[in-house]
Amino acid sequence: MKRKLLSLGMGAVLIFGAAGLTACKSEPENSCYNIVAEYFPEERLLSAEMTFSFYNDTENALEELKFELWANAFREGAAYSPVSELYAPSAYYNGKSYGGMEILAVDGAEEYTVGGEDENILTVTLPSKVYPDESAEIKINYRVTLAEINHRLGVGKNTINLSAFYPVLCYYGENGFCEYVYSCYGDPFVNECADFDVTLTVPEDYTAVYGGKGEEVAENGTKTYHVVTENVRDTAFVLGKSFECVKTTACGIDVEYYYYGDVSPELALSAAADSLTYYSKTFGKYAYPRYVVVEADFPYGGMEFSGLSLISSSLRTSEIPLVVAHETAHQWWYSMVGSNQFETPWQDEGLAEFSTALFLDAYPSYGGSYRRMLDTSIGAYRAYFAIYSQLSPEADTSMNRPLTSYQGDYEYRNLAYDKGMILFDCVKTATGERKFFSALSRYFEKYNGKIARYEDMAACFGSHAEPVFESFTKGLCVI
Ligand SMILES: [Zn+2]
Repeated sequence: MKRKLLSLGMGAVLIFGAAGLTACKSEPENSCYNIVAEYFPEERLLSAEMTFSFYNDTENALEELKFELWANAFREGAAYSPVSELYAPSAYYNGKSYGGMEILAVDGAEEYTVGGEDENILTVTLPSKVYPDESAEIKINYRVTLAEINHRLGVGKNTINLSAFYPVLCYYGENGFCEYVYSCYGDPFVNECADFDVTLTVPEDYTAVYGGKGEEVAENGTKTYHVVTENVRDTAFVLGKSFECVKTTACGIDVEYYYYGDVSPELALSAAADSLTYYSKTFGKYAYPRYVVVEADFPYGGMEFSGLSLISSSLRTSEIPLVVAHETAHQWWYSMVGSNQFETPWQDEGLAEFSTALFLDAYPSYGGSYRRMLDTSIGAYRAYFAIYSQLSPEADTSMNRPLTSYQGDYEYRNLAYDKGMILFDCVKTATGERKFFSALSRYFEKYNGKIARYEDMAACFGSHAEPVFESFTKGLCVI
């Protein structure tokens, strides 16, 4: 079954190739994921072949590549669950359900193993070393079984969410490839920018929503999508059977909102367009050809991908502008400017919250303001700290610590989002508005397309901001 389907997919590549979409040629040179996949709903199965062209932009000769198999967090017996106990009932809408990723073959490798702390790492030994600025290519055959879960990857009640449905190259840090485990708090993904060329076949009654530009061919009861994106952090699809779409443009960018249950879709669309406009003017130019927001089954408010934001179908109307503005801010603070979301999650979350507050202040028609959002964060953080410091006199309110160190959703929310937001407000006060915004633009320009460490970001704001960053991140300041 798999082989036949894959050859069908390859045929689609040739057809689309003639239509003019090509990938893996971006500047700067990137690694490229070329994925041909087909989804079978009855089995909740994605069958795929991924040709990965690794471009070595490290300073070391590498003989081994490592990939995150995020799908394995959804398997039975996973040590690191993708969802906390608090959110499990709304995520597993049909009771417990499991999935996972099975690696069937790796061509172009000396050998490969699946291991790591939680069956989460694919290690591929290459036949020879790849030196800096050289490339190597491997081909991975694999299949993903989706759990019935409202989550980033899974069969939800109404939508099928496909993110991290492929082996993802591990982040190469100071000590080599980092083997991060999944976390039910935050987003454990640390992705270098790469190019993607994805051919996805689905039954014809599904519509696939994605970021970037794509083409679509319907034949023999299926639809095949070919989507090419360059210099992005990820690729993701949301499949649904009853999507409707509203569209507009902002700063010359097509903005689209796909929805199925939202009774006032113009609200999400205008929040997406207005926030895209505001952030483009305030931080720097939006890098992608399109911006898409999609309503989907998701246990949290929303989730960001490059050029694509997912918002939960369970949001109240009043929450929609805030969630859309937050996810749109992640196009700047996650997608364009990367950071280590596993080790310093507040870096992009705090900045996304802070950006949302700025946006709401500039667009009062959405019913919020900077001051109100800041006061809410301060109030929430103080309430959290009052409880936390009584329970644990040695309360650790430091911020530069990994996702796995958090004890619960409440602690994570308060340290990454609320304290993160308050931190940026204090930096703004310490530096003065003019210097603050020029520092933020500098941060954007310097690290657009890269991953900024915490130190890199703090350095952009100059010496007046240093003590603020220091006291907040080390958990020394009193709020
Ligand atoms: Zn966020």
